[in-house]
Amino acid sequence: MTLFAGMPGSSGSIEVVCGPMFSGKTEELIRRVKRAQIARQKVQIFKPAIDNRYHETEVVSHSSLSIEATPVNTSVEILQKVYDSTRVVAIDEVQFFDENISVVVEKLARRGIRVIMAGLDQDFMGKPFGPMANLLAIADSVLKIQAICTVCGAPASKTFRKNPKQQEQVLVGETDLYEARCRAHADFFGEDQDQLAFFVNLNESRSKTQNL
Ligand code: ADP
Ligand code: MG
Repeated sequence: MTLFAGMPGSSGSIEVVCGPMFSGKTEELIRRVKRAQIARQKVQIFKPAIDNRYHETEVVSHSSLSIEATPVNTSVEILQKVYDSTRVVAIDEVQFFDENISVVVEKLARRGIRVIMAGLDQDFMGKPFGPMANLLAIADSVLKIQAICTVCGAPASKTFRKNPKQQEQVLVGETDLYEARCRAHADFFGEDQDQLAFFVNLNESRSKTQNL
């Protein structure tokens, strides 16, 4: 039986695979895409044009798995490029998209499409990356995976920028710029700042009490 959007049992879904760099998000995205292709479902894969680290028109993992993808500049472009016959839409490096991506993927899911996305949940400062917080909130399923800390070998949830002087959130790079790190080896800088703020507050409240 062919299912059409709106019919019971035909509802699409929103899946997010997240974690730090090198955690295997792209590998997992490719694995899900390949299984859908084995099931003979029509799949379209998109990536942000800004991410041309390995290839302009391929999604490539750090372990050299690859799959053809359409580069797009905005989230609305995805909506325009999805064919009526498409059953599965996969989007890699989804953190680089604009905030409209949540509306776009909701629309696709409402049309009965399975949407699979992979992206960095946190930026190099440990803050939610671009549209990711919204996407995680609207997702039906979330897989959060860890890499291996390059310092101690523990599971790593953070992406560490080797040069903290580079402050912009979006700075496309590889092992030249980034490392996977566990919490203990990722936030020395943040810890120093937190301690400083704590002692400033403590001294301020002490001097206020002395003036009473
Ligand atoms: P992501 O898309 O999350 O950046 P990929 O799927 O492209 O990750 O790559 C995952 C692969 O990266 C692993 O299977 C492994 O071969 C390799 N790798 C390199 N550095 C690390 C690391 N620090 N921790 C885990 N895997 C790593
Ligand atoms: Mg990746």
